[in-house]
Amino acid sequence: SGILTTSFVILIILGFSFWFLIRTILRQKTLEEMKSDFTNNITHELKTPIAVAYAANDALLNFNLAEDKQQRDKYLVICQEQLQRLSGLVEQILSMSMERRKTFRLHPETLSLHDLFPTLIEQHKLKAGKPVEINLDIAPEDLTIIADRTHFSNILSNLIDNAIKYSPDKANITICCRKKETEQVEISVTDHGIGIPTDKQPHIFDKFYRVPTGNIHNTKGYGLGLFYVKTMVEKHGGIVTVRSEAGKGSTFTIRI
Ligand code: ADP
Repeated sequence: SGILTTSFVILIILGFSFWFLIRTILRQKTLEEMKSDFTNNITHELKTPIAVAYAANDALLNFNLAEDKQQRDKYLVICQEQLQRLSGLVEQILSMSMERRKTFRLHPETLSLHDLFPTLIEQHKLKAGKPVEINLDIAPEDLTIIADRTHFSNILSNLIDNAIKYSPDKANITICCRKKETEQVEISVTDHGIGIPTDKQPHIFDKFYRVPTGNIHNTKGYGLGLFYVKTMVEKHGGIVTVRSEAGKGSTFTIRI
């Protein structure tokens, strides 16, 4: 019976190892699939704006200046929009690969939130392409943080972009900045958009995750923005949290 017990134990161990191996392989496969989907999508996404900008530029080159100026301006606007889309995409790809590099370093400096926000808000209003109202509720006292200017601006841009993107018609956003007792600063971005169902909230900071909406709102994205936000906020020693209700809106809060 000793041999039987030993064989039984070995069998169980082998069974578990086999199960573990299969599970690891399967997980690897989905990750590989996601990466390949991502590469395919991004290639497609890069090609489209290039083709459109090319066509518009071609039309401009062959344009007779005596013809109507309105038509010429239309082509110029198309070029501008496509270049903006391209630059957004390139930025996302770069920030993704940057975070993986071992030599990655932040360049912290003292940033005043009173200086940072007005410019950022103006930029977002300009590029939104739909009615956007952004209220800045900032304490009058001196609010400074020590952070990397580029990455910190990107973090905030991602949150504002999402707030606009996931507000179907008009976006009504409030940005609130407060100093906490703990010498930390709290920044929150609130929208009244589509919101995020409670059961999906734990996943939204994962790489490539997008809440399945059946494409009702037809928003473009790769599920990388919030992954970048979380990674970078944590590299700054801060935390990011979300409070949201489906159909009502969302608040993303950074404490740094
Ligand atoms: P994406 O490129 O898809 O916007 P993100 O990583 O920025 O990627 O966000 C992940 C997902 O979280 C989005 O696809 C969206 O479903 C959801 N989400 C993010 N921000 C908001 C928001 N302000 N309102 C509603 N849903 C949001």
